[in-house]
Amino acid sequence: MARVIVRGISVSTGFAIGKAVFVNRRHRSELPRQTIQPALVPGEETRLREAFATVEAELATARDRIPAELKEHKHILDSHLMILKDPKLAGAAAKLIRELGVNAEWALEKAVAELEKAFGVLDDLYIRERLQDVRVMSDRVMARLLGTVRELLAVEGRVIIMAHDLTPADTVALEVSKIMGFATAQGGKTSHTGIMARTLGIPALVGVSDLEDAVNDGDLVIMDGVGGRILVDPDEDELAEYNELEEQFEQYQRRIYRGCQLPAETIDGYRVQVQANIELIEEVAAVLDNGGEGIGLYRTEYSYLNRIDLPGEDELADKYSDLAAIMSPRKVIFRTLDLGADKTIASFGALEEANPAMGLRAIRFCMQHPELFKTQLKAIARASAYGNVSIMFPMISGLREVRRAKAKLREAQEELRTEGKRFNQEMPIGIMIELPAAVMIANLLAEEVDFFSIGTNDLIQYSVGIDRTNPHVSYLYQPLHPAILRSIKHVVDAAHQAGIEASLCGEVASDPFCVPILMGMQIDCISLSPQAIPGIKRIIRQARMSECKALLREVLACRTVGKINRLVRDTIFNKYPEELTFFASLLDNDDLGG
Ligand code: PEP
Ligand code: MG
Repeated sequence: MARVIVRGISVSTGFAIGKAVFVNRRHRSELPRQTIQPALVPGEETRLREAFATVEAELATARDRIPAELKEHKHILDSHLMILKDPKLAGAAAKLIRELGVNAEWALEKAVAELEKAFGVLDDLYIRERLQDVRVMSDRVMARLLGTVRELLAVEGRVIIMAHDLTPADTVALEVSKIMGFATAQGGKTSHTGIMARTLGIPALVGVSDLEDAVNDGDLVIMDGVGGRILVDPDEDELAEYNELEEQFEQYQRRIYRGCQLPAETIDGYRVQVQANIELIEEVAAVLDNGGEGIGLYRTEYSYLNRIDLPGEDELADKYSDLAAIMSPRKVIFRTLDLGADKTIASFGALEEANPAMGLRAIRFCMQHPELFKTQLKAIARASAYGNVSIMFPMISGLREVRRAKAKLREAQEELRTEGKRFNQEMPIGIMIELPAAVMIANLLAEEVDFFSIGTNDLIQYSVGIDRTNPHVSYLYQPLHPAILRSIKHVVDAAHQAGIEASLCGEVASDPFCVPILMGMQIDCISLSPQAIPGIKRIIRQARMSECKALLREVLACRTVGKINRLVRDTIFNKYPEELTFFASLLDNDDLGG
């Protein structure tokens, strides 16, 4: 038995066996407050400024030397550089030195603590992650001030990186070919470490709370990115077991990538479009490499998040047009801004809302900020001249809302016409179906638009009444709840009756247990993260439509989600025993829930 096993959130699948090396640990040693003689205050300020400047220079160098594999993450380094330049950190610390006559270390720690106090109370995933970035940057400056900088690795052989938190700058300073995996104590599902690990194709765990106590430098560890565990000092049997799993995983990866450019067509000739969800334009390479047949969901709000100002129309139009042109003739669906709730932008700040998930978000937010909305609509319309572009409005709850959104688009197009700018007048318009109200009137909404895209992440949240981010009720997140299945089927049928396309872009689209059921409903298109595409395409290519329809019929006859989960699990495991070894499914809690 391993000496100890710690658990974390798997953000990148796979296995690694190797030596653990810490790049950093939490250093929360007490920083004494020292009073500085007035005459020495300017010198103390200079010391602080120089520490910031040194870290900034390090980061800028790392940014210029970024390895090709991580090039697409340059923007993260930019945002870290922005934190270093932001007066709210360096300026606030300098002010404390001046006003209180204290040492630079104490002033810096106090400035960060105040930022954490001011923003940390907000239950907002995005802000929490940005605060982590601020902490990481201030730790680097602090290490300079304290003279405790640990030069980044000159590692012997390949290792598994352990860290309190790993900055993109740390990562690019490492020789990526030597890294077999990452684990960090900090971080959530959307943290940068996970994004980079997926890009590099290595396993990663974040949020491993006991990491720093349980693992020592040099320990032999097994990183299990499928099960979300780290085995410290494994025994011979465990090593043999994981060596075998690692080998199987590699073979499996090779097999699925081999077929990923083939169409997702069942044995009996039914074809499903498999498109990709992206947050950043830089992910396009991963979309094409993994066999994405288009972009079914571009979450445009992400490029508004890591910045203080708002992007202008020309900047957006250039970016969007590039994306449309690169993907052409493949489709790109631009989802208009889904800001609000957990995604706030610096220019507007967070609203005081008791229930932000049910508050001013997505299309509602855009309607309250018509200039912001129009800028984006014009940019998307301009991109439509360069490729196969569609537009999609999120969180639509009724006819009036979709008509108003369309009217705004027409206004934007009218302005472009007056300005003599080109756009495709026939650009398809779709909506996301994410609210039970939209499900119920799907037949009416279908008359207004060219396609539906079902957003199950939100549809489940709003149908079952569970906050997506609340761990206390996450056991009720059940994609195969009879109410959810009936809702999806109802929407797909309404779309088909009206002769429009039905797509699905929530996480359900990457779950091998759910996809055959969606196929039974004759979904036209699924859209999922690029890395999940090869595996799902392979499952579709081994399926028969007749079997999917039979499974759907059986599932619809069941009365409880527990029964459905067991039935689906048995059926799918029987059919794809080998395929499912390396998938982490959504169907975790089959005995619970309605
Ligand atoms: C969804 O709600 O399912 C969806 C795809 O949108 P997001 O996850 O961005 O809310
Ligand atoms: Mg959504």
